[in-house]
Amino acid sequence: MRILWAGAAALALSVPAAAQSDTLGAEVGKQMPSLMEIYKDFHANPELSFMEVRSAGILAAEARRLGFQVTEKVGGTGVVAVMKNGPGPVVLVRADMDGLPVTEQTGLAGASKVRVTTKEGVETGVMHACGHDTHMTSWIGVARLMAANKDKWSGTLVMIGQPAEERGAGARMMLEDGLYTRFPKPQYALAFHDAAQFPAGMIGYTPGYALANVDSVDIMVKGLGGHGAYPQTTKDPIVLASRIVGALQTLVSREISPLDSAVVTVGSFHAGAKHNIISDEAKLQLTVRSYTDEVRNHLLDGIARIAKGEAIAAGIPEDKMPVVSVDRNEYTPATFNTPEFTEDMAKYLKGRFGDQRVVQMPPVMGGEDFGRFGREDKTIKSLIIWVGGVPQAEYDAAKKDGRTMPSLHSPFWAPEADKVIATATEALTAMTMKLMPKG
Ligand SMILES: [Zn+2]
Ligand SMILES: [Zn+2]
Repeated sequence: MRILWAGAAALALSVPAAAQSDTLGAEVGKQMPSLMEIYKDFHANPELSFMEVRSAGILAAEARRLGFQVTEKVGGTGVVAVMKNGPGPVVLVRADMDGLPVTEQTGLAGASKVRVTTKEGVETGVMHACGHDTHMTSWIGVARLMAANKDKWSGTLVMIGQPAEERGAGARMMLEDGLYTRFPKPQYALAFHDAAQFPAGMIGYTPGYALANVDSVDIMVKGLGGHGAYPQTTKDPIVLASRIVGALQTLVSREISPLDSAVVTVGSFHAGAKHNIISDEAKLQLTVRSYTDEVRNHLLDGIARIAKGEAIAAGIPEDKMPVVSVDRNEYTPATFNTPEFTEDMAKYLKGRFGDQRVVQMPPVMGGEDFGRFGREDKTIKSLIIWVGGVPQAEYDAAKKDGRTMPSLHSPFWAPEADKVIATATEALTAMTMKLMPKG
């Protein structure tokens, strides 16, 4: 059946009778002109994390029109749209809604011109540089197809528009606001993310750990300030902070098993004001990545230990030990795709799209707070797939001359949106319907 299906997809144009067994692709095709209008609107009107009011309003209005029961302002600007359609499992489909403080430089006609002043007083452009506009548009596509095909599935569909993914906060906020208590709790959670490293229309899947734990750590290194010409009268926090940065490099290289994955990056180092003054403090900002809880705890404990140990070695007094701040609850947990479930879904997608278009991808050390929806309860099977967005010609050219392509979050990221949206809409709808069979 699966193999027949793949044949049908490939030969749909020449053998119309075979294609009738599944009309999903054609239905997506019919929706595309309207979905592309919606996409253009989302793309031109991006909103920063926690401010996704307009975007949420569009999702809510569309879902209401389709007959979903819609609740707004769940966990900030979150949207929950529920469609109860007989007995069966509960399936959650999620799209994240926020854009980024990035000034778009794609030069495209529909480029975002939005500018805002952030709470911190920084004026910046705003752009859907992570492609969450394709996520929201596909969410609408899925909602439309599921509503139109209600006679073909049985169960409860919970579609959510999630705020503030880029701040690693939105999933937690929605869960804390009763996503699993005020609304039906899912047995399955599905999502997709556009991908900037492979061709448009390709689907990538990663069984098990797919994205990393992300922790942000601040280290306030204290010293004793003074004149730059008389260092013997001071405790120089710049020298101490430099030692800490150096010693931190041994955490991953000497303390974590080479077979485990971990990253400790010092992304910011600020101290001092003038050539001839020894400052009395230095500030470090770190991003810390891992997959397992064990490695995560080792890294976070190790950072505190190294900071303190280096301060002792530098002769810093007891009351001026470095202050290491990390909120262990405020982090993006690793995204773990339930392995067997992922393999099953991948097999199913290969049957639909062909083996060439559905490929296994290695895990990455980026973060995605979608992982929270599955972590909440280990019985929930969850999966986020990648959908490639790089125009094929651009991909081929880049491969040929070894050029690096713009990544997600780049001001130059310009996905081939129609292919991303069509593929994601069909893949998510097909998986959702597969999980809620009729009868
Ligand atoms: Zn992002
Ligand atoms: Zn993203």
